[in-house]
Amino acid sequence: MRDIIIATHNKHKVEEIQQVVKDKINIVSLKDLGLNTDIPETGDTLKENARQKARYVYERFHKDCFADDTGLEVEALDKRPGVYSARYAGEHCSFDDNIDLLLKEMDGKTDRRACFKTVICFIESGEERYFEGVCEGVITTERYGNKGFGYDPVFIPNGYGESFAEMTGEEKNKISHRGIAMRKLIDYLLKK
Ligand code: IMP
Repeated sequence: MRDIIIATHNKHKVEEIQQVVKDKINIVSLKDLGLNTDIPETGDTLKENARQKARYVYERFHKDCFADDTGLEVEALDKRPGVYSARYAGEHCSFDDNIDLLLKEMDGKTDRRACFKTVICFIESGEERYFEGVCEGVITTERYGNKGFGYDPVFIPNGYGESFAEMTGEEKNKISHRGIAMRKLIDYLLKK
């Protein structure tokens, strides 16, 4: 089985992605490699951030690796928080702080459309490739469910009656932005 490093410290993401790749790829986390330092993420786009994180890890280990960057784009907020989704409510804010601010900014708004976008940068023998996934849905007016992470309790994907936080990891992965982008990466790897 092929080893690929995932350039993230987010353990939810590592678990989610290992569920998608199942036994096709062995996902090596930064924790497995003993890298505990923060990876800089200073770009203005999802693509720049994904590239920056993947490069940072590739330069250190010289092994195939990928990083993903995700943003929530809300129509009524001119596509904010977007690339700033993690720090929407401030530099060291929690997932709950971000949701509180989002619900406040969306108070009274009738257009609740939003989408999650994921960009993956995969570095293979030094060369970069990009894979994208989008999941469209709506922002709720209150929290539903307690699974998942981030904005999951306030996002209902189109065509579904429950939020991401009410779904099992497997259900979410089938339709989520990251699931879609990851399957594109896996398809690429398996076709080789
Ligand atoms: P990241 O750049 O991929 O770490 O994502 C930035 C921020 O977007 C995270 O801190 C979360 O708040 C949010 N986010 C990313 N992926 C998801 C998801 O699958 N569900 C809900 N929120 C997410």
